[in-house]
Amino acid sequence: MKKEYCGLFGIYGHPEAARMAYFGLYAQQHRGQESAGIVTWDGANIREQRGMGLVADVFNERHLGKELKGSIAVGHVRYSTAGASLLRNAQPFLVRFGDLRMAIAHNGNLVNIQQLRDELEHQGSIFQTTIDSEVFVHLIAKNLNGGTLEQAVIKACAKVKGSYSLIILVNNKLIALRDPHGFRPLVMGRLADHYVFASETCAFDLLEAEYMRSLEPGEMIVVEDKCMQSYRLSESKPTTQCIFEQVYFARPDSIVFGEQVYTLRKQMGVHLAKEAPVEADYCMPFPDSGVYATVGFAQQSGLPFEMAMIRNHYVGRTFIQPSQDMRDFSVRVKLNPVRDMIKNKRIVIVEDSIVRGTTIRTRVKKLRELGAREIHMRVSCPPIRHPCFYGIDFSSKGELIAANNSVSDIARFIGLDSLHYLSIEGLLESVNAKPETPKHCLACFNGDYPIAPCAEGQKMCLEDSVALSW
Ligand code: SF4
Repeated sequence: MKKEYCGLFGIYGHPEAARMAYFGLYAQQHRGQESAGIVTWDGANIREQRGMGLVADVFNERHLGKELKGSIAVGHVRYSTAGASLLRNAQPFLVRFGDLRMAIAHNGNLVNIQQLRDELEHQGSIFQTTIDSEVFVHLIAKNLNGGTLEQAVIKACAKVKGSYSLIILVNNKLIALRDPHGFRPLVMGRLADHYVFASETCAFDLLEAEYMRSLEPGEMIVVEDKCMQSYRLSESKPTTQCIFEQVYFARPDSIVFGEQVYTLRKQMGVHLAKEAPVEADYCMPFPDSGVYATVGFAQQSGLPFEMAMIRNHYVGRTFIQPSQDMRDFSVRVKLNPVRDMIKNKRIVIVEDSIVRGTTIRTRVKKLRELGAREIHMRVSCPPIRHPCFYGIDFSSKGELIAANNSVSDIARFIGLDSLHYLSIEGLLESVNAKPETPKHCLACFNGDYPIAPCAEGQKMCLEDSVALSW
């Protein structure tokens, strides 16, 4: 199954729209590193530049200063896992039909994509890519006959199921919307007189744009000339925003779903220290994951915060592998322990999540080899027991260590003296959720899926987990 994380950016009416989009994507590079794209509209022509790689590699001064002309821009960064890492799948996806020029950028994952593609192909649609955005384009085009563009987009959204935040450029309009459940974030702001949209507010900070608010779940905003209008997509659905955005995925300096992510992660650490205190010499993260939860853990527990593992910030996504078999090389090249800090020490490691557990196991083993006396782990979310079908890359159940193994088995596999995961209640309190008005998706923890997965997804849910071997 294809899974994607993505970052979106849109701006209306700015004389340097492409350059602003470049900065907006640059700030959101953590949301996708495989491809990047910007599409602009200058009132008569649509222009695009898309490429594989990082934002800084895909665009140059010629693109931003000369080629991507126009005052409206939409941009996208993408990360995808299974097999679809192709330039033709890079977004924004661009089409021309009649006198309309449309570019669409999508963050999320549709669960009824195969059924929709089959239906559309049966009716004569021809697909060029394997991305969800193309399905939206065909659905919008089919619904345009006789109606307005806004009505066509609303009708298209009524057909799809799953998670989607979209930014769409159609001639001189910019449309931004969140699905009725509000799985993925999307925020709006102002840069002088110009409306801007992004997945995360860190994009606004770089532009010195003012954050206005998060789009509501099921809200569609259309900007044209100096006017901005808000529409409802459909009857309201229960809000199920992805709690993993706040646990792990978003930048800590962003405001996501109306909350500062840094503060929430610190609160997760505070709750962890209350739920499972431990006597130790200090607490530490494996940088960069878990850093902010470790701050909260240290403040609540009174334990010193140490950085006993040092990250090499200059490791690219690929590097030349050693010619001989150098055990665990790729793990060691990224993080290296500070030897003096390890020997005879009782250490608490605060992690943001455990998915497979294999990399963590290698790191813990290294700490043991260097003489750590006790190693305890505190994890700032509950065990991930179920795959995600809404756009975060927890693949099949078989790859999730917590799917069929007990917490004590996982502790033994990793080589820990103790292991505690934050409870669901502790996590919800950390993100300021009120029990009487639930608004988060927790499906990867409790299997309670807000939208039923497709048949392929259900098969993945039933897949047996791999047994741990020591
Ligand atoms: S299943 Fe987990 S990762 Fe996926 S949307 Fe729900 S909370 Fe987020």
